[in-house]
This record gives sequence, structure tokens and C-alpha cells, in this order.
Amino acid sequence: MTASWLGIDIGGTSTRLLLNAQQEWYGFRKVATASWAQQPQALDALAALINATLEQQKVSGVMLGLPGILSRDRQQVISLPFIQALDHQPVAALLAQRLGVPVAMDKDVNHLMLWDLLQLDALPAHAVGLYLGTGMGNSLWLNGNFYHGQHGGAGEIGHMPWRDNDLPCPCGNQGCVETLTSGSWLARWAAKNQAATPLAQLFSHHGDHPDLQAFIARLGQTIASEMNILDPEYLILGGGVLAMADFPLGQLRDVIFRHLRPPVTRQGLKVVFSSVTDQTGCRGACLAAERHFRRDV
Ligand SMILES: [Zn+2]
Repeated sequence: MTASWLGIDIGGTSTRLLLNAQQEWYGFRKVATASWAQQPQALDALAALINATLEQQKVSGVMLGLPGILSRDRQQVISLPFIQALDHQPVAALLAQRLGVPVAMDKDVNHLMLWDLLQLDALPAHAVGLYLGTGMGNSLWLNGNFYHGQHGGAGEIGHMPWRDNDLPCPCGNQGCVETLTSGSWLARWAAKNQAATPLAQLFSHHGDHPDLQAFIARLGQTIASEMNILDPEYLILGGGVLAMADFPLGQLRDVIFRHLRPPVTRQGLKVVFSSVTDQTGCRGACLAAERHFRRDV
């Protein structure tokens, strides 16, 4: 039997589904996450959504990407700040029971990263992904595998404390760098200071504003800190904020390199800018499903 896979990317706003078989991508669907997550029985509603796709195409496995913290074995959802209906549940096993097919899950950002890694000439041993969207997505690929940490909490770079900051973070702490360095912060800043400018054109019109210059500096310093700890071969930069018109990618790169440890990391680090599309998270999830389940096919 030819293996086929269903990749699902669950975001705070949208849930996307995509099928993959024999190098073909098909059956892309995008629905509002609220359409199932705000139902009284959210898991049943999610299963019904997935079932509608499985009725078109029988698959060998389903991979979910979720925006939050999973247990180290990736069986249990621990904390999804934007979709609390799934917290503290063994979501993969419960869905597998309802759907009758194997289901696995990982952080959504690891699926973006897997897609980007597979675009390189060869898989590196060590790479770090930083995807700046609503929050700071961070993916760690160490020794040829994703690194999840002892408790599933690795790669939470957005929750490093930032000096002189006491803003509350959705994680429950105060002062996390993400509260000052994310798409959420940009949207709040724009609404308060430049309400007449469409958010997508913020850097085109106001990129020289000291507050936005300070934003780039914070982002570069935060990323450089992680590079100096891990010294990866590749840094992959992506996410919706970096895709905004006239986002100063060159300036960000300069800030990062100014703080890299000379000579090794500064001379050796390769930076790749990701070109994420609407389907990338799903495509990465399909590829992750193949890596995860292929031994069973
Ligand atoms: Zn936090």
C-alpha cells in the first residue's frame, strides 16, 4: 500500500489540513480554530473536522502541530495559551481512538522547521529556528533530532526575562522578552502610536522610529544569546513579522552578528531566511508524520 499522510497545523486563529501521498499535496482546508475549539466538546468537534478529510482519503497517520507546550513524549498537551480546551489531555491518543488511525503531535514550530531543514542541501547536525509571529516560535534541532527538553519545555526563548520589564505574559509570568518582542507587541504599539498606518506597512512608514529600532535590537540580542549558547551550523529565521513589508532583515542580521562570540560562532554561523507560506506548517506536519510513522507502514 502507498502510504499517505494528513498534516494538521493548529494555530490560535486558523486550523489547516493537508494531505500528502507520493510527493503530491492535496485536499488543503483552512477553517477558523474557534469553529471547533469553542464548542462544548472541543475534542469531538476537532475529530469531526478531521474525519471529513479522512472520508476523502484513507491515511496511514495523522500529525498535529500545536502552538504550545506538550509533554516530553508528546502524548499530552500541557499548555496551549490560545486553545485552553485541549489543556491537560492526551490529545493524540483520544483522537486516535475516535478516528481509528494513528495520531501523533509536536510543537507547530518544529513542523515549520522540518520543512525548512529539508530545503537545505543536507540535513545539518545542529540548527535553530526562530519564527516570529504572535509570539516567538523557537525550534531546536540538536544532534540530528528535535530537542524537547526534560519536561517538554525546551525552546521557550520568548520567556527569558528582559531587564526593566514587568509586563504580564500569557504564560503567567511577568517580564518575558516576548511581551516586548513579538507580533502582539507590534500590533499594540501600532494601535497606540500609528493607528492610521496598516499594520502590514508599519516598517515601510515608521521603520526609523526609535521604538521600532529598539524592537530590532531586542530581537537581535535575544537571538544572539541563544546562538552563543548552542553554536548551531544554521539559524533559520522566519514567521509573519519577518515577512512584513520592508522588515529590516539586514539590520537584524547585523545586530545578531555583532553579539556572536568571535571567532567561531561569528565566522561559522549560516543564516537562512525562511519563505513560509500558508501551507508550510501542514507540509512539515506531513513530512513529520512520515518520519514518525513510516516504521509502522
Ligand atoms: Zn512568558
